Amino acid sequence: MYFRKTLLLLIITSFIKVSAQSLIYLRPDRVFDGEKVFEKYGVIIKANKIEIVDSQVNIEKNLPKDTKIVDLKNCTLLPGLIEGHTHLFLHPYNEVPWDDQVLKESRSYRTARAVIHAEKTLKAGFTTARDLGTEGAEFDDVGLKKAIDDGVILGPRLLIATKALIATGSYAPRSFSADIKVPQGAEEADGVDDLIKKTRNQIGKGADLIKIYADYRWGLRGEAAPTFSLEEIKLIVATAQSAGRPTVAHASTVEGMRRAILGGVETIEHGDNGTLEIWKLMAEKNVYLCATLAAGDAISQYRGWKKGVDDEPDRIKKKRVSFKQALEAGVKICFGGDVGVFAHGDNARELEMMVDYGMQPTEALKSATSVNADAFHVNYEVGRIKSGLMADIVVVEGNPTKQIADIRKVKVVMKDGKLISLK
Ligand SMILES: [Zn+2]
Repeated sequence: MYFRKTLLLLIITSFIKVSAQSLIYLRPDRVFDGEKVFEKYGVIIKANKIEIVDSQVNIEKNLPKDTKIVDLKNCTLLPGLIEGHTHLFLHPYNEVPWDDQVLKESRSYRTARAVIHAEKTLKAGFTTARDLGTEGAEFDDVGLKKAIDDGVILGPRLLIATKALIATGSYAPRSFSADIKVPQGAEEADGVDDLIKKTRNQIGKGADLIKIYADYRWGLRGEAAPTFSLEEIKLIVATAQSAGRPTVAHASTVEGMRRAILGGVETIEHGDNGTLEIWKLMAEKNVYLCATLAAGDAISQYRGWKKGVDDEPDRIKKKRVSFKQALEAGVKICFGGDVGVFAHGDNARELEMMVDYGMQPTEALKSATSVNADAFHVNYEVGRIKSGLMADIVVVEGNPTKQIADIRKVKVVMKDGKLISLK
């Protein structure tokens, strides 16, 4: 009996091995490899890796007999997309305002939502995502990431910031009596000892990167103003860097951006009031811009702008001009929409807006694949269709390299060589 069980186990194990090693040949109309478009190309997947990328003619010359062929007529194959700026613990502000999410929604409720958000993100073709802060949900992104990695729930590979760092008094919720201490959407820290300690603690708890708020609307005046000093930013960056973690900054004022760039951050989030001088500095220092066009678009609509009916508000007009100026100055553009402000799964909205605001579809798709992979230091495993990288793949109907909206017509999502059911 014992012997027979072992034999059965052996047979099962070897079967699994054979099927895990068997080849899958994906045969779309074209492949966008993260940089360029190749017509009549195909991709062979072996286990969880991309094995071969070549013309269909070449591949079919010596295709092993037991290869599983998946014909994907009228489709485009791309690397799994990389969302550069999401908050899985937030949901759209027109459903519940940000303050109320932070103050009135329990962490268990927010986590339940985050689980669904992660699944929606993956099923929209985003196999990797950079989550830039739990916004008051403590270190709950660490558990969420582990649940995804362990296969307990569906979601993208996550790069997480945990709590994010803010200078005391500079963030939100606010507008309460000065007598009341209100929980904040990120972690307050100032000065040498405190900043070093809290940066290290966030890393220790699981942060893949440190996110700071280099400016914000604080105090009674209502306009954004710088927060951390240049010296403080340099200290955070050096502390994170010595542990191999990058620092990124929320910044929208000229001075906040200038300090963040000179302080050594790797990406600037939003950058709404960037000037030509700032863009040139970013290009020179190789700092990426994650413009979050979709967030501004969503917030303007929540405030009453009827898109397509009313004139564009000043904020949108200014953003169009500054984004174009950044492109012309040669700033590298990350793809990231600040998802959570608008619905998870609707991540493609930022891609459509990048094209609407002046990028070619292939350039926008580059941002969402190879550029983000390079910017986030994950290009050794994802972001391109290249032999040896992880089999993170999205296939869409149509041709998003010409018609960006086709990126929404998701047919196949593969993460780590596994097909994700899109139901
Ligand atoms: Zn954000």
